[in-house]
Amino acid sequence: MVDGAEGGTGAAPVEFSDHVGMPMRDGLRLVHNTLVGIGLRDQIKLGASGKVVSAFDIARCLALGADWCNSARGFMFALGCIQSRSCHTDHCPTGVATQDPLRQRALVVTDKAERVRNFHRNTLANLADVLGSAGLQHPDQVTESHIMIREGSGQAKPLSTVLPHVGAGALIAAEHDPIVAASLPEPFKTYWTKSRAETFASAATS
Ligand code: SF4
Repeated sequence: MVDGAEGGTGAAPVEFSDHVGMPMRDGLRLVHNTLVGIGLRDQIKLGASGKVVSAFDIARCLALGADWCNSARGFMFALGCIQSRSCHTDHCPTGVATQDPLRQRALVVTDKAERVRNFHRNTLANLADVLGSAGLQHPDQVTESHIMIREGSGQAKPLSTVLPHVGAGALIAAEHDPIVAASLPEPFKTYWTKSRAETFASAATS
């Protein structure tokens, strides 16, 4: 499961929210490429979460390599969250994240349950529409080539032409072959041969 730095609750330490972690799309691509590079991608399912709200958000995650998406934010919105970021104070103004019985009354379960259900149903219906408009019949069929992005130059290109790709088994080969290691895309080229299984610290810094 790849959970992007953009996720988390309003209770997260501000320094962590602002400076620790990486955006979900980068992290997802990093993990996907790592699994491809060590030959395990077909044995491990990859989930992703981080600002996934709309049907297109889901399609983009799938294109980047996710097998499924989790969404907290969208469901929180449907439930009434207004992002006041006071979850940790027990003073949630909408009754979503509080143990205070008085504040909890702001969340009318019978009303909000219907909204959450509608959000989920309509988002999946929208996803089916988006996939259908591209001639696809199943979320598994979404690839990098189905998403277009516009570069700084203004030119639109398929996502597949700008994403970093690691060849199958290339990270294993890179450990013994400097030529393969030098041909890896960043950040693998810089960090892969310095990484170790037993610690998060880089071999170059510890
Ligand atoms: S509305 Fe409630 S759940 Fe949403 S961010 Fe504020 S405190 Fe947290």
